[in-house]
Amino acid sequence: MSTQLTPILTKFWDHPQSWTMATYEDNGGYRALRSALEMDPVDLVQVTKDSGLRGRGGAGFPTGMKWGFLPPHDGGPRYLVVNADESEPGTCKDIPLMMAAPHFLIEGAIITSFAIGSDTAFIYVRGETAHVYRRLLRAVEEAYAAGYLGKDILGTGYDLDIVVHAGAGAYICGEETALLDSLEGRRGQPRLKPPFPAVAGLYARPTVVNNVESIASVPLIVGKGAEWFSDMGTEKSQGFGIFSLSGHVKHPGQYEAPLGITLRELIEMAGGMRDPNHPLKFWTPGGSSTPIFTDRHLDVPLDFESVAAHGSMLGTRALQIFDDTVSVVRAVTRWNDFYMHESCGKCTPCREGTYWLAQILHRIEEGRGTSQDIDMLVDICDNILGRAFCALGDGATSPITSAVQYFREEFEAGCHTPASELFPPAASTLF
Ligand code: NAD
Repeated sequence: MSTQLTPILTKFWDHPQSWTMATYEDNGGYRALRSALEMDPVDLVQVTKDSGLRGRGGAGFPTGMKWGFLPPHDGGPRYLVVNADESEPGTCKDIPLMMAAPHFLIEGAIITSFAIGSDTAFIYVRGETAHVYRRLLRAVEEAYAAGYLGKDILGTGYDLDIVVHAGAGAYICGEETALLDSLEGRRGQPRLKPPFPAVAGLYARPTVVNNVESIASVPLIVGKGAEWFSDMGTEKSQGFGIFSLSGHVKHPGQYEAPLGITLRELIEMAGGMRDPNHPLKFWTPGGSSTPIFTDRHLDVPLDFESVAAHGSMLGTRALQIFDDTVSVVRAVTRWNDFYMHESCGKCTPCREGTYWLAQILHRIEEGRGTSQDIDMLVDICDNILGRAFCALGDGATSPITSAVQYFREEFEAGCHTPASELFPPAASTLF
């Protein structure tokens, strides 16, 4: 396995007009679409399955298999919905991708829609990102003008419309069924699964919901072949991915590399830690809803299996890096405040549980914790995990239980000393 950086989706991001159709076409864009429209849709699904592409939105579900779950055509509509509601703390790859090279996503959405037999696709963008919404609208306009969208695409008889829709800024709308409710005009709250969207999704019709980076990878797989993709990465986590490094590294940003690269290698590529006097203390492998890792995990290969074998999740490859100036108690308290605020309120474990956790965490952060607080914290987390309606509740507990596992002494110190004294906020640029 190669561990070199692999600029593919990020290849021409530094071009002064990277987002235009002209730049995209100069770099080979829309050639895969021409080949795809000459293929049998069944073969397109097979190529995607053979490539080993797994969902890049966090869960890592095999993309081609998901497409294959759609029931046979019954003459009614079926939809592609692109989940562009990127909101997980630390996750910041889809937004730069859509800003810098939106045509990867548009071309991928056209090929995917053709493969699954859909004539309408939706891109659901996070509400706060008006700049992304505008950029996508412009890219879609360019694609219509070039004959890649609309009626009789490239003279093949295939019709497709893409609708770009901005949400209203709720984290829960990144959960695929809440997203579908929101797109239908309802308050975004998760639906019971099954039925999965593949069977009953948007307007109760068969729907494929895929993440931006997954769909953006499709033209490359179709253009270069399944083997080109599956030769990268590891045996079960194939291909490349965008790793988002934030926090205490010299050069935070997006680093595209084969899955299986390690944090040690990525930190080196990012110029090292921001201050050599302050070593790595803890980090998130996949955003703040995954269990944290410590300096002991620097050499864990960042693929789905290896990260899971070490007790966390690869998630969205959102690597938030914290040095020893940061209080882990303060960090998990802020994350839990976020989940408490964003809980949709539908289920009791998440709605009430995150609120109870917040009360205890704030007590500990302020040095007012009691001797029972740490056990109660872990007990509440255990009672939320697996009992919440969707992944939001489970995700809220992951950083807390893992932080107690690795840094229990810091939580114990919260029974007598405020985190602000142990870790003066001025010493850190984070939390
Ligand atoms: P999930 O494992 O329940 O589902 C993953 C995908 O596979 C879904 O599209 C689902 O419909 C499909 N699927 C699973 N089983 C299926 C079946 N039997 N038949 C048909 N389809 C099936 O995960 P999830 O709840 O969708 O997502 C959780 C992940 O989201 C977490 O791992 C987290 O990393 C990530 N996440 C990402 C963000 C972000 O901003 N990108 C935010 C929060 C969470």
